[in-house]
Amino acid sequence: MHMNRRRLLTSALAISASLSPLAALAADTFAESPWRKISDADWKKRLPAQAYGVLRREDTERPGSSPLLNEHRKGTFVCLGCDLPLFRSDAKYDSGTGWPSFFIAIKGGLATKTDFAIGLPRTEYHCARCLGHHGHLFDDGPRPTGLRYCSNGAALKFIPA
Ligand SMILES: [Zn+2]
Repeated sequence: MHMNRRRLLTSALAISASLSPLAALAADTFAESPWRKISDADWKKRLPAQAYGVLRREDTERPGSSPLLNEHRKGTFVCLGCDLPLFRSDAKYDSGTGWPSFFIAIKGGLATKTDFAIGLPRTEYHCARCLGHHGHLFDDGPRPTGLRYCSNGAALKFIPA
């Protein structure tokens, strides 16, 4: 009886983990990545000023300012810091917010944390490899996920297919 209950609990946890987009990030597969060893001073040298502000200081770009808002070609949006693929063009949509928005991320590309920068808890997401900040995740996106990845275009690079 005890064993059965335990097995039930374990599989229930496995199911909820596989359904939750926020729970897919438990293992830090990039812990030993060379991208983690770059110093702040080196990031500052290597990135454009605005990208440095977003990626390394969690700045937010001015809404409506990103040229990527008008990027409608097929391709992949990668981390400007380390080129890790984060979003596919077919997951991009016009959220009306003035920030490039996506309803699903490429698996393994992002990790999340809760921040209180505006006094309320929000789900912050960052590149799983270089840890550069990208944006915030909301639950008012379109079907089928209902998610809205509200991204800073300054932290992304578009690679046409
Ligand atoms: Zn990165």
